[in-house]
Amino acid sequence: MSNAIGFQCVECARRFTVAEIEYVCTQCGGNLDVLYDYEKMATQFDKARLAADRNFTMWRYRALLPMEDSSPVPPLTVGWTPIYDCPALAAHFNLKQLFIKDDGRNPTASFKDRPSALAVVKAQEVGAQVITTASSGNAGCALAGMCASVGMPAVVFVPASAPAAKIAQLQIYGARVVLVEGSYDEAYDLCLQAARTYGWYQRSTGVNPFMTEGKKTAALEISEQLHWQVPDKIFVSVGDGCIIGGLWKGFCDLEKLGMIERLPQLIGVQSEKASALVDAINGDGVVRESAAATLADSINVGRPRDATKALRAMRESQGGGVTVSDEAIIESIGKLACATGVFVEPAAAAAFAGFAKWCEAGQIKADERVLLMLTGNGLKDIQAAQQALNAPLRVRPNFAEVERALADSGFSLPHAH
Ligand SMILES: *Cc1c(COP(=O)(O)O)cnc(C)c1O
Ligand SMILES: [Zn+2]
Repeated sequence: MSNAIGFQCVECARRFTVAEIEYVCTQCGGNLDVLYDYEKMATQFDKARLAADRNFTMWRYRALLPMEDSSPVPPLTVGWTPIYDCPALAAHFNLKQLFIKDDGRNPTASFKDRPSALAVVKAQEVGAQVITTASSGNAGCALAGMCASVGMPAVVFVPASAPAAKIAQLQIYGARVVLVEGSYDEAYDLCLQAARTYGWYQRSTGVNPFMTEGKKTAALEISEQLHWQVPDKIFVSVGDGCIIGGLWKGFCDLEKLGMIERLPQLIGVQSEKASALVDAINGDGVVRESAAATLADSINVGRPRDATKALRAMRESQGGGVTVSDEAIIESIGKLACATGVFVEPAAAAAFAGFAKWCEAGQIKADERVLLMLTGNGLKDIQAAQQALNAPLRVRPNFAEVERALADSGFSLPHAH
């Protein structure tokens, strides 16, 4: 039996039983929180049992997820992505400790494998024949990959402007891809309509309450991987707001279970060119539709679909929000890769850019421990990375040209023998 005992609407607080509802509040249309029996959960889940568990995937936290014990999970290895300690980078920013968590290491190379894997579990529990999602790219790739691994059809709605690598990735897994000649926000509305019309299982961020639960597994991992000493601050990029809301849910669950003693501050990072949620948190708290014109496609959202959970995470954690320029995002891709060996896509680099901006503004104390949540792999959008690069050396197959090119480039060479 699942430890989930019901839902509560984040807007009107109305409660529902598990059997009563599938997606949003029937009263007001608000998104739902999943409610749990934490006492029962605590009888199945503790630090000692976890320490003995050899299952290094997101499913090691099954007792904290809204699924039946007997439900099969997709065979791909999702979660337990590495956290790296980056002392040189920490010193550069005059900071006690800086960690990065590389979720680009997931099977389809983004954080979205976590919620999409759970979506497949839930769809199979209800006997769905087809799963659909709207996506800027990664959510669709993740769903397509997870569906391929269990032989379930997927229909994905993405803006036609999605990076070429993401579109190829979607297609290669065999998903039915609908390129929408419009924005992500428009693709989202079409997906809702298609799911209602055809009765498909709906994975889209926001309306599906379980996506927050899949996303919270990253917070559970951060806590366990850092030996239950959570960071002081976590920077994460924000589009719809589901990841930051999910992280907050995960930390709050662990606090309720008595497994962590304090909570981290969560700082949401958006591009100046798509900043609805950060504008709200730094302004009057009201989310207004914004322009959506950032090259960081994964966070190019004008109408965030999980706004209430995102604002709650930033507010309740006493974190905040910060915007960064697209130029800073592009520069951050190279800076982070050179300093750590981790190559990320623009949306993930935004977390680093936001961190650097807060550091430079004196908003982080030297004795703090900070973690950057890196949400997607750089190979998903090489065009963006190329904007940060100069042309490489180029020679005819002739060693004299190699020597000249290296010397001209200013690369330090030993004296020839
Ligand atoms: C989806 C995504 C985000 C933003 O997540 P939201 O839940 O929409 O806020 C950030 N980075 C990457 C790489 C993503 O794919
Ligand atoms: Zn409601």
